[in-house]
Amino acid sequence: MSPSDELQNMVTRFAPSPTGRLHIGHGWSALMAHDMARAAGGAFRLRIEDIDGTRSRPEHVAGILEDLRWLGIDWDGDAVMHQSQRLDVYAAALDRLKGEGLVYPCFCTRAEIAAEIAASASAPHGPEGALYPGTCRALSPAQRAERAAQEPHCWRLDMAAALARSGPIRWRDAEQGWIDAHPEQAGDVVLARKDAPTSYHLAATTDDAAMGVTHVLRGEDLRTATDIHALLQTLLGLPGPVYRHHPLLVDASGRRLAKRTGGITLAELRESGADPACLAADLRSGVFPVGISLQHA
Ligand code: GLU
Repeated sequence: MSPSDELQNMVTRFAPSPTGRLHIGHGWSALMAHDMARAAGGAFRLRIEDIDGTRSRPEHVAGILEDLRWLGIDWDGDAVMHQSQRLDVYAAALDRLKGEGLVYPCFCTRAEIAAEIAASASAPHGPEGALYPGTCRALSPAQRAERAAQEPHCWRLDMAAALARSGPIRWRDAEQGWIDAHPEQAGDVVLARKDAPTSYHLAATTDDAAMGVTHVLRGEDLRTATDIHALLQTLLGLPGPVYRHHPLLVDASGRRLAKRTGGITLAELRESGADPACLAADLRSGVFPVGISLQHA
């Protein structure tokens, strides 16, 4: 595809988790992804990441759609994609990885993992802390089958086996070009949780491909996830979008904005009488409400 074809067919997306209302950081992120597609004559799509059955709430889904519309964001496509309706698609992707021997069932509880890490002098660490020590990777096929039939388990990617299969991984950054990925820094990540037949990594990767997303714009905190997603794309034969990671917003004390931080949700701003057109214009020019600023790397 030539660079101009790539722009004409651009598809971007916003993929919120309905675990609360959107804050202005989400609004800013959604506006950027929306504007990027609109400027290129492409499509902007919306996906609700509601695989977390305990924390996702239907009222938050409705609230998110309302917040986006209030901010003047429109999305394309007949329907909004809901991950909770696509569990069979994720199961098929997981089956493919199972068939290739690249995932294994893990029976460890959080407490067991913490104890194992504490007891080991050489527990593997990545930039985000201790990694899963690989306890269940060592089980024999017979042990796996026997325990999987009766014990709750998640499915983990066998990172070393996956990388041996894929070879070196890289992804394309919108500004910096090709970036060497190091998914091994995340260890044997979970691809299907004990309480859900998928995980964020598997679902997001599968869905970005299914939605035809060509450009992913998301927060800097998901840079490590991008390394993992690029690996999964290679393993599953999916196209790799171009990525751009934006800085996160922090409050006056330097804390990242969270859904629980008071006073900064789009719903609260609306209730306090904010003009959505002015707010959107401010966010577009990088002007944030008093006390909110970009986190510097
Ligand atoms: N659902 C994720 C979140 O709300 C975003 C995932 C993504 O953009 O890939 O943080």
